[in-house]
Amino acid sequence: MRQLRDPLSPGLGRRAFLVSGAAALAAASTAHGGDDPARTAGAAKAAGEFDVCVVGGSCTGVFAAVRAAAAGMRVALVERNYFFGGTATAGFVPVWHSLFSLDGSRRIVGGYTQKVIERLAARGLATLHDAKDGRSESAYCFFNTAALQGELDRMVKEGGVRTFFGASFVAAEVDRPGHVARAVIEDKSGRRAIAAKFFIDCSGDGDLVARAGFETWMPPRERLQAHTLCALVTGVDRLRKKHPKFSFDELMKPSSGARLNHVFQWWAPVPGCPETTFLAATRVAACDPTNADDLTHGMFEAREQLGRIVAAANRVFPTDGPGLQVAAVAPELGLRESRHLCGLYRVTGEDVLSGREYPDVIAKGTYRVDIHEGKGIKFRYLDGREWEMLQDLSTGEIKVRRGRWRPEGPNPECYQVPYRAIVPKGSENVLAAGRMLDADREAYGALRVMVNCNQMGEAAGAAAAKAVKERLAAPDAYPGFVSAPA
Ligand SMILES: Cc1cc2nc3c(=O)[nH]c(=O)nc-3n(C[C@H](O)[C@H](O)[C@H](O)COP(=O)(O)OP(=O)(O)OC[C@H]3O[C@@H](n4cnc5c(N)ncnc54)[C@H](O)[C@@H]3O)c2cc1C
Repeated sequence: MRQLRDPLSPGLGRRAFLVSGAAALAAASTAHGGDDPARTAGAAKAAGEFDVCVVGGSCTGVFAAVRAAAAGMRVALVERNYFFGGTATAGFVPVWHSLFSLDGSRRIVGGYTQKVIERLAARGLATLHDAKDGRSESAYCFFNTAALQGELDRMVKEGGVRTFFGASFVAAEVDRPGHVARAVIEDKSGRRAIAAKFFIDCSGDGDLVARAGFETWMPPRERLQAHTLCALVTGVDRLRKKHPKFSFDELMKPSSGARLNHVFQWWAPVPGCPETTFLAATRVAACDPTNADDLTHGMFEAREQLGRIVAAANRVFPTDGPGLQVAAVAPELGLRESRHLCGLYRVTGEDVLSGREYPDVIAKGTYRVDIHEGKGIKFRYLDGREWEMLQDLSTGEIKVRRGRWRPEGPNPECYQVPYRAIVPKGSENVLAAGRMLDADREAYGALRVMVNCNQMGEAAGAAAAKAVKERLAAPDAYPGFVSAPA
């Protein structure tokens, strides 16, 4: 195990730190390939010194920050929005999948995910479903995403985490290879730098990892999972009352006139809001989340699709009243895939589908491989089933194929995520939790969902605390499976 120097310790001294910081600026734009020399930390005012700094306040980031704080760390949490939750709140996505083994018989995940679900359910703001027919996949939880914002606020405040809302992380100050000294943010107070002993990138897009010069990878645009702008709509009950055959599936067909080139949509009631329905029916393919122009175009494109879907619903299923209406559009395009870190291990589809076990397990799950292709969707289940829905773009014909990807046989209890998949290669004091983990296309299809990201966040927070306390390098700070059920 490597014992580390503490860059903020009195022993090193402020002067030495500044010198190493200057060296870092050179490194960030040369040897480490920092991506924009103009984004250096030089002019940034100090915004405080912490043990752990987490960039990105999704559930992953909040759970990382609160876990580290619970271990006695002074923690900073940087979030560009003025609320926590990431895709769950900025993207309106309201489902956490099963915390049970594949046959539904045993709880395999607890931790903060279970705690938050229980708190929301106690207020009638999360709906829990049992594992029907012995199937884990039925045991999911719908929640009210506005209420989730409040729960995350509460966790962060109770945990004593210092929050920087409205703050975009823009640059990393690297003081020696693999070691970040300060994270530079821009917020209403200007350009400021947060010094910390350890950093966790929970930005989804790997902004910190990439700007600190660690190696990352991303599939070509056309191979990225497609993105979806979600919305809250009203009027579904009225439509169904007048048109018992109403279904959102009908709107995806060419005959609806909505002019979509994809087939998959899903919707869900919003707990606590009986008139409101969550709807995920748009699709933006070949959009690179690290390219601002792609995101701008993607937002325009998705909002136009949403408008056409609602217009088609009211044309094909007319009512006497206001019909289907959009009550709220998610402020952000829901991003399914972006940069991945080059980790100490890349999880493969075979690892996931065979339920491979690791000595450094940090997360367990059963959610299926779920790949949103440009025009359709593909599922692979741990129990060997396979399901695919594709649209022939020339004829508009929708093809559904059900089958098996392997013969019947013994099923794994769950799959696992190893700690190594969230440790960037060459990292001394940086981890990256959430959807940016290192996983191939098939493994990623399963591991990207929130119950898995939440566990990665908790593990990263615990690992950061361990690294700081015991002066360990990131690869040596495996904290155990901290989100195991109590
Ligand atoms: C339409 C859609 C439907 C989905 N359906 C489900 C589902 O039903 N169930 C499920 O579990 N998963 C679902 N997923 C997947 C899941 O939501 C995401 O993979 C997961 O939420 C990713 O979490 P994350 O923490 O890695 O990233 P994110 O949720 O993207 O969070 C990143 C956070 O970092 C912040 N941030 C980013 N960059 C910066 C920066 N430079 N500075 C400061 N802050 C920054 C963001 O504002 C955000 O809060 C869906 C995804 C989409 C898009």
